[in-house]
Amino acid sequence: MATDRIVVLAGGVGGAKFVRGLRALVRRDLPSASITVVANTGDDLWLAGLRVTPDLDSLMYALAGVNDEQRGWGRAGETERVSAELTAYGVGWPWFTLGDLDLGTHIARSSMLRDGLPLSAVVERLSARWPLGVRLLPATDQEVETHVVTDEGELHFEEWWVRTRAALPARGFVQHGVEHATAAPGVAEAIRDADVVLLAPSNPVVSIGTVLGIPGIREAVRATAAPVIGLSPVIGGSVVRGMADACLAAIGVATDAAAIARHYGARSTEGVLDGWLVDEADAGAVEALEADGIRAEAVPLWMTDDDATGAMAAAALRLAGR
Ligand code: GDP
Ligand code: CA
Repeated sequence: MATDRIVVLAGGVGGAKFVRGLRALVRRDLPSASITVVANTGDDLWLAGLRVTPDLDSLMYALAGVNDEQRGWGRAGETERVSAELTAYGVGWPWFTLGDLDLGTHIARSSMLRDGLPLSAVVERLSARWPLGVRLLPATDQEVETHVVTDEGELHFEEWWVRTRAALPARGFVQHGVEHATAAPGVAEAIRDADVVLLAPSNPVVSIGTVLGIPGIREAVRATAAPVIGLSPVIGGSVVRGMADACLAAIGVATDAAAIARHYGARSTEGVLDGWLVDEADAGAVEALEADGIRAEAVPLWMTDDDATGAMAAAALRLAGR
């Protein structure tokens, strides 16, 4: 099977870890292959007059090697002097830290947007500074923001996630602005012309689900001639890191590798998947998934370093060729 054009749908931190491992694999074993990453933009927001794009930034910083590994988000060597001033003026969200280096990115981005550039062109210009080794595309150029429906009203996804730590029960998610959105330039074409499409082990609801919800993207994934392979973000009934189980619960999907595969669905029955990788802890699910029309295999899915993650990506490419 050809693997020259690899497309990955991805969220932020989990997506970035996966793409780094995939990039390491490609550099070592598939030097002629290209990687296009379609990133979630549902977490984007205006804050203190600036457009902030958390998942695109997690991807850009991690691929550039300037991310804070310890903290898990933002820039390494960060300071927060500007944020302290903003808080003193009562501007922004006190619980949403904007580091000084990070603010440089947000100011640059907002300035380009105000000059009239679409987000996709802004991402291209910002990421030209770093040798990312992948083509990074926002899912859409329009402002489509994920809001969480709770018993106390609706709030922006980042407010629910960061301020309430997803503790306020979510009743559902709304993509504000989605009816006016289209896939960003290059996204549908990349999926159509791909040799393989991978769904990163990202949040199935507010990362991958949001990307697939942009008009034209789910259709492109369903229509591509390339195999579509997903990797489970859940291992042994746990979300590994973070609070994604709260998102799954809100849409009535169990925190379970097979349940997520069935939520995505087989392409042969209205879904988006040809294949699904589960961790060895979930090997018991393989047979039933195959019976449901989803090629499945159990391999280690812990993204402990680029080598381990590269091996996951290699397993996904093998499953695509099966
Ligand atoms: P976010 O946008 O920063 O929340 O990041 P993503 O949506 O891209 O990815 C978050 C998801 O990655 C989490 O919900 C976890 O389920 C998953 N994840 C994190 N670490 C690992 C890992 O080592 N292995 C697997 N299989 N999934 C992981
Ligand atoms: Ca995110």
